[in-house]
Amino acid sequence: MTADDPGRRAAIEEMVRLVGRVVRDERVLEAMRAVPRDEFVPPRVRRYAFEDHALPIGEGQTISQPLIVGMMTEAARLEGDEHVLEVGTGSGYQAAVLARLVRDVVSVEIVASLREQAAQTLARLGVTNVTVLPAGVELGAPEYGPYDAILVTAVAPSIPEALVRQLRAGGRMVLPVGKHDDDQELLVVTRTAEGIDTTSLGGVRFVPLRGEGGFEEDDDSVL
Ligand code: SAH
Repeated sequence: MTADDPGRRAAIEEMVRLVGRVVRDERVLEAMRAVPRDEFVPPRVRRYAFEDHALPIGEGQTISQPLIVGMMTEAARLEGDEHVLEVGTGSGYQAAVLARLVRDVVSVEIVASLREQAAQTLARLGVTNVTVLPAGVELGAPEYGPYDAILVTAVAPSIPEALVRQLRAGGRMVLPVGKHDDDQELLVVTRTAEGIDTTSLGGVRFVPLRGEGGFEEDDDSVL
């Protein structure tokens, strides 16, 4: 499929239509229409790029299902001038969607090969307001914070305190939380003057967050 192939355009429209059954924010739908998801997946799964599924991207990791990308992006309530952190760059797709909606995005990734590949894809597509960084000792990227919004695209066992600290007051964090594969919930955590407010968007299934605030490497309860 070439970029202006009518079949490809139709596949993109169908993906956006499916996401739009749940996601109402037109800006989010427009961003998802504009970011070529097929450029972010390996050639062997490219023909499925616009179906509403998570897909393997190598290193045992996945690009999230479009519906989940849409829901997480909408839940961050972005208006255009935000400074945003993503934890878990993966393919770079979610970062590219965010990049169209905010001022800039800092995205951290723990796996070097994924980080390099994502940075290359983003550069090739001319996305200049995303900085892809290695995951440091502390979860997130405290040195570039505080953030107006944080999206975590790997499941944490509980709400990571280190990331709450990187949110500015009024900021939103959207993240999956759960100790087991079949009991993860997508949460929206808003930092308030007193602490945090938490609401749930329902059940989800994500790959595990590693390192501090995440799961131990040998913990297979979430795999
Ligand atoms: N947002 C991605 C999907 C990410 S899958 C996309 O749009 O394609 C989750 C990613 O989180 C994986 O690539 C995994 O390597 C990464 N990850 C896991 N623990 C991490 C940590 N502590 N810091 C940064 N990235 C982490």
